[in-house]
Amino acid sequence: MNRLRRQGIACSLLMAAVMGGQSLGFAQTTIDGFAPKPSDNQRRLEEKFRAVPSSANAREELRRLTAEAHLAGSPEDYATAIYVRDQMRSFGLAADMREYQVLLPYPRSPSIVELIAPRHERLQVREDVVPEDPSSSSKKIVPLFNGYGASGDITAPLVYVNYGLPNDYEDLRKAGVEVKGKIAIARYGNSFRGVKAKVAEDNGAIGLIIYSDPADDGFTQGEVYPKGPWRPESSAQRGSVQFLFIYPGDPLTPGLPAIPGTPRLKKEQALNLPHIPVQPISYGDAQRLLKPLRGPVRPKGFQGGLPFTYHAGGTNDVRVHLKTDIEFATKTIWDVITRVDGAVEKDRWVVLGNHRDAWVFGAVDPNSGTTAMLELGRGLGQLMKSGWKPGRSIILCSWDAEEQGLIGSTEWAEENAAELKEKAVAYLNMDVAVSGPNFGASSVPSMWKLIHSAAQEVKDPKTGKSIYEAWRDRARADAADLELYDANGNERPAAAPRIGALGSGSDYTPFLQHLGVPSLDMGFNGDYGVYHSAYDSFYWMAHFGDPTFQYHVAAAQIWGTIALRLAGEG
Ligand SMILES: [Zn+2]
Repeated sequence: MNRLRRQGIACSLLMAAVMGGQSLGFAQTTIDGFAPKPSDNQRRLEEKFRAVPSSANAREELRRLTAEAHLAGSPEDYATAIYVRDQMRSFGLAADMREYQVLLPYPRSPSIVELIAPRHERLQVREDVVPEDPSSSSKKIVPLFNGYGASGDITAPLVYVNYGLPNDYEDLRKAGVEVKGKIAIARYGNSFRGVKAKVAEDNGAIGLIIYSDPADDGFTQGEVYPKGPWRPESSAQRGSVQFLFIYPGDPLTPGLPAIPGTPRLKKEQALNLPHIPVQPISYGDAQRLLKPLRGPVRPKGFQGGLPFTYHAGGTNDVRVHLKTDIEFATKTIWDVITRVDGAVEKDRWVVLGNHRDAWVFGAVDPNSGTTAMLELGRGLGQLMKSGWKPGRSIILCSWDAEEQGLIGSTEWAEENAAELKEKAVAYLNMDVAVSGPNFGASSVPSMWKLIHSAAQEVKDPKTGKSIYEAWRDRARADAADLELYDANGNERPAAAPRIGALGSGSDYTPFLQHLGVPSLDMGFNGDYGVYHSAYDSFYWMAHFGDPTFQYHVAAAQIWGTIALRLAGEG
């Protein structure tokens, strides 16, 4: 999941050119929380660890993980679980599978979206094969669908609801546009898509179409795939519309692990599922629906990036047929749990997590993170070969079925809730590890200092400076003058780069929001317009995201440095 956090790549390239060649300003002070002598030992240990991850290994691991589409619950997903487990074991680590049986949605047949008026036209609702990208022709690419949207076969007038949030419906009410009994079309952005489904349903829409507006991640942003990294005309964003904000995880076992013996709700009793069909489409398809809309000219803020004036619709000028055919099946999913026991405080756990399942190939989301976790595991295995053990236990978790609703992490957290409350020191999440070169992090405030200090230890491949310096310089280049200069025009001292607050878009949710475990989420971001599409592929990564795979290495290094500090003996 983990919606892109876009930052100025142009700025960072410019800064790289200007600042290149400066020496690394690695902090040589005592590590926070460590006495001077243990601090020196810790630093030596971390350096040994950081020397292990390699871009050649990362490249091969990402290639293996993304060779086939691996939707949660599929045989190909199981193969990735075996691969991760066996890689961890080959590094000398104790890795095991943990299974859960959960309710998952699969399209039984591709959805139908067609214009009934003003003319009859069936839309493509399928991503084109891109000849340059070999995996884009795979027969196993799941059709475009929104996970947990209901099955339905409906025909009704279409109404454009902008981002599909409560204030948008309020604007439509003011403009005299009725939504009840109609099919809503919303653009992606500004909120989790499950919220759009809930708000559409609450406003009486009988179906929801969500499209990727080019202003968000398409041609307005830059060249589209395969010429550039942005979303091309036929590409749409899959994604779950589960009501995560009610509860995440398996819809039928809220609060309890989905294992044999756990009582299950009937699907009709589950409170986190939408009741209306929901369908994602591309902007190529969306423009056919939006262009003929009549009714009031869009309220303020409703205009997107397509080259015509947007109207709200809601009249009989545009009628749409939407048919979705979704199978809800109880399926086995596979978490892979790797444990490195602590030598001093075995019952203090530093938990790291990344999901492994993808909507399609998932090179960026999530397997850049899986690759970073494997390289991190390789580093820990290497340290252990020389007789090292961490002070506290380190647990590496490869989650399944995150995309449908944070399911693998939620079920495991539910199964181990009592122990986690007592033993978990921290949860360190990495969903998207790399979509570009710009480091960013979100966390509880108590972890800010730790993240900043670890970022000082890792080299930024592009600039040769530390990740911390590259991050701080980028923040400075993006900052307003007011933040850079005081009232007298004097330059302010460089501020530490900002770390945001955690939302609820990834696997830290059950740890932070349900169990109160201090958590962080981080990764390297860039120009990324293929989110949840068939083009989030190895080819995309090798040409746009991280052609040298050095940022995968940097992700493993910073993640491992933080884990080693939390698990170290001060
Ligand atoms: Zn993800």
